[in-house]
Amino acid sequence: MPSHPRRLRRWFRRFRRLREPVSLTLLIVIFLLTLPLTVPITMLLIARDQRRLRAAAKRTRCPQCGQTLGLHALKRAEEKWLQYNAYLSATYPGTRWRRVRGFDAICVNCGTSLRFCYQSRSFAAIAPTEVMNRDFA
Ligand SMILES: [Zn+2]
Repeated sequence: MPSHPRRLRRWFRRFRRLREPVSLTLLIVIFLLTLPLTVPITMLLIARDQRRLRAAAKRTRCPQCGQTLGLHALKRAEEKWLQYNAYLSATYPGTRWRRVRGFDAICVNCGTSLRFCYQSRSFAAIAPTEVMNRDFA
């Protein structure tokens, strides 16, 4: 680092010009270095959430009909979501949608839609929307 005030000012000016590319490069390097750590942690967290969802579905009874939800309710919600997305892609080709899945389980017996709360690890019935009432098959 230069000691003379004029040289110091020039050095700071150069540094300011370089700051953006350097910080971007630094950010990319940090991102790449932490990737081997963040990817497995993210995968573990996703697996943990899925395990909690399945465990809750196995022990939760439908608030409408009283039947145990089970894994079939999760599978039915997944199928409904895939059908809805296929319907959107076929009906409006090339259109990009902001898709938010508002349900995690659909009771196989009565069709009640439920949303999983990850904090309380429990299901709560939600009001059926147009997506859930329509049959896309
Ligand atoms: Zn039910």
